[in-house]
Amino acid sequence: MGTIWIPGAERLGDGSIGGAMDSPSKPGRATWHSTESGAGNASFNAVAAYLIRIGAEPHVLYDPTTDRLGQFGPLNQSARALRNDGATRTNRTGKVNIQIEVLARAATPFTAYWKPGKNFRALMAAIRSWGVPDRFPMGALAGRYADPAAKRTRSVWLDQGGHYGHCNVPGNDHWDPGKISVSALFAAAPVGAPKPAPAKPQPVALAPFPGTAWFKYEPRSPLITAMGRRLVAEGYRGYKQGPGPKWTEADRAAYAWWQRKLGYSGSDADGWPGASSWAKLRVPKS
Ligand SMILES: [Zn+2]
Repeated sequence: MGTIWIPGAERLGDGSIGGAMDSPSKPGRATWHSTESGAGNASFNAVAAYLIRIGAEPHVLYDPTTDRLGQFGPLNQSARALRNDGATRTNRTGKVNIQIEVLARAATPFTAYWKPGKNFRALMAAIRSWGVPDRFPMGALAGRYADPAAKRTRSVWLDQGGHYGHCNVPGNDHWDPGKISVSALFAAAPVGAPKPAPAKPQPVALAPFPGTAWFKYEPRSPLITAMGRRLVAEGYRGYKQGPGPKWTEADRAAYAWWQRKLGYSGSDADGWPGASSWAKLRVPKS
């Protein structure tokens, strides 16, 4: 379930404009209109009242010059700004058909001069909350009345989610919202920055094997301490003190335990570290 009432939008009318969608299993869409009027608060109020009076409400009314947003009815029900396409009730096509009337004129595309703000972003977030993708599946918007570039293909309208102009709706002849910039539309409401990927565990820098002979000189080194800590981490419980930093018979006994644990026996489990058991112990570089 997506957003039904857009946060921050003012309520217009009595909140009841339509009903259930006819094809709720079809993808959601948004349909853009222009009111063919001026903008500003006086126009906003007059157009809202007019749309209510004639019963042609969209879901929302948007002023591109002030970012003012009003909502007539719930987004999960139909609006009334489209003509039917024969028996197909275009207002009720899809999971949602969110209709936006922009206070603008088709001949002067609003994205050329608008000032989108947080209400526009809230509108786009609400549209996206219904899974409507950021695309215009019908392709070009109309640049003039009866522009042949603007398609009204029925199969696309019925089956494809995304954004449409009124100019793209089958059975309708209006050419609004004009040739608005599709890229500007989406860019004005960037999808939240992708969440940072969970931090990967830091790869541990491992201490290279110093050679078996090195241990036989009874070294005193932080490497012996690191080695012993790894043996304890692996389950060795025989250290009375230490481990490290000086190599002692206690370390040799501990290491023999590790070799036996790995399955070595005899001289392969004599407590003197070898390259392969060392690699498996993964002693961090100290
Ligand atoms: Zn329209």
